Amino acid sequence: VAPPPTVLHAFRDAVARAPGRTALSYFDGRIGYAAADALSDSVAGHLAACGVGRGDRVAVMLQNTPHFVLAVLAAWKAGAVVVPLNPMYKSGEAGHILRDSGAAALVCDGGAWTAYLREAARDSAVRTVLTASDLDFQTRNDPRVFGPAPLGTVPGPRRPAGPGGADPAAGVAVADLATVARGGRPAPGDPGLTATDTALISYTSGTSGTPKGAMNPHGALTYNAVRQVTSHPLPEGAAYFALAPLFHITGMVCELAACFTNAGTLVLAHRFDAGAVLDAFLEHRPAYTVGPATAFMALAAHPGATPDHFASFQVISSGGAPLPPALVERLRTAFGFYLRNGYGLTECTAPCASVPVHLEAPVDPVSGTLSVGLPGADTVVRILDEEGAEVPFGETGEIAVRGPQVVPGYWGLPAESAEAFPDGELRTGDVGFMDPDGWLYVVDRKKDMINASGFKVWPREVEDVLYTHPAVREAAVVGVPDAYRGESVKAYVSLRPGTSVEPAELAAHCAERIAAYKYPRQVEILPVLPKTTSGKILRRELRDRG
Ligand code: ATP
Repeated sequence: VAPPPTVLHAFRDAVARAPGRTALSYFDGRIGYAAADALSDSVAGHLAACGVGRGDRVAVMLQNTPHFVLAVLAAWKAGAVVVPLNPMYKSGEAGHILRDSGAAALVCDGGAWTAYLREAARDSAVRTVLTASDLDFQTRNDPRVFGPAPLGTVPGPRRPAGPGGADPAAGVAVADLATVARGGRPAPGDPGLTATDTALISYTSGTSGTPKGAMNPHGALTYNAVRQVTSHPLPEGAAYFALAPLFHITGMVCELAACFTNAGTLVLAHRFDAGAVLDAFLEHRPAYTVGPATAFMALAAHPGATPDHFASFQVISSGGAPLPPALVERLRTAFGFYLRNGYGLTECTAPCASVPVHLEAPVDPVSGTLSVGLPGADTVVRILDEEGAEVPFGETGEIAVRGPQVVPGYWGLPAESAEAFPDGELRTGDVGFMDPDGWLYVVDRKKDMINASGFKVWPREVEDVLYTHPAVREAAVVGVPDAYRGESVKAYVSLRPGTSVEPAELAAHCAERIAAYKYPRQVEILPVLPKTTSGKILRRELRDRG
């Protein structure tokens, strides 16, 4: 199947094929394909009337809501580039990305705008703001997700100045997104976007440094969406549950783009709450979902979780973060589903290797590492040594990726782009190896290696062992300064509900299973581990704790 040039083409095709089918489902709210088309036309018309046009940047800072999807479709209809922003960002982080991307428009929560985004946008090019309210497209207001406020009193959604009204404090035109969407404005003329036009500037989540904006072309999104739809075939119109956040590239591609490519229903649940997600699984009976391993740890630890919650799924994938083999087995035994690993980066527009639906990922017999999958047909993965030469099968080195999903570079950073993409090949900064059958294994991030007395320790290997202990819910291993060894291995863990264990027992559990220089000399138990909102455990934050 040839990928359509843009996600908008895939969406319009779905509108033509199934205008009455539900495109977006949000608690008790439903928006059909034809309605989503009309609502996003009207928002696109508004953006165009505010001067937003081809190549301009539209920042979208929202949870998994209909507003997010309508704003993205509208921005593309106006010819603009979408800059997804994590809604958990505070003023400084959001301000940096707004200024760095030169965004002309911002779509965000109404309360967040009044509370701090107005301030964050002050020195930016933002002149048009569209605000969203939790209750625009649903009335259920689940307190587990939205907090205890009763219906109608959710803070902050209200329309600061009405459509097109001015916000004197910031000199910015602010309007309410749902009001604009329902205003019935016609869409602007077709901007004629092609596969090579930039669809998104996706800022890496910054688990390892300052966020950089990867420029994902439209064709990279549709390539990966079509590849997913063909390697994990689902019936047309299937329900896709958006577990991964849409502001992250995994959600944007594997949920939003893949769903529209298959004319499916995208089930949105605002933000992750394990109990609310499990209820939604029963209500919507989704066929597909993807999320970070930590989301599945949380679902599995929920006291109400049963195999029936997962019975409707045909494919459940984990992506964007390491997947411990012990978790895969625990989920299979307790809930009867197989969690499919997938490997991707923002810089390759989500997945570049995945486990095809008729296969299971092998586990490397020596290291115990679970494979992340097979590279796609048009994707070339090479394992390189320090000099950039390819190493033989089985040997470790830096993973390099070339393929239609790899981005051409970072926004406004030519030097960093040249370094990360020599000759258009992405140097991932991940260390891994490949077996003779082509299965790819990710050992760890190059920069997370711990050097203990000259011995190399890869945190992920130690974490995999910690996960085999029945009490361990989450584990993260970091190097801490050590006067004698230079660095020593420290483990942070959180425990499964109803269990207890001494740190010394966890250290002993590792010492029995891995070499003496690898096992954690220190183990600290925390109630929860720090994570990005896309669910990745933040080793950096733990390292800073010492
Ligand atoms: P930054 O690049 O700012 O440090 P990031 O974590 O946001 O942060 P992403 O593009 O979101 O960057 O994540 C890509 C990284 O996630 C990969 O480089 C790899 O280290 C890790 N990763 C993704 N999938 C897997 C997987 N299946 N197994 C192990 N690691 C994975």
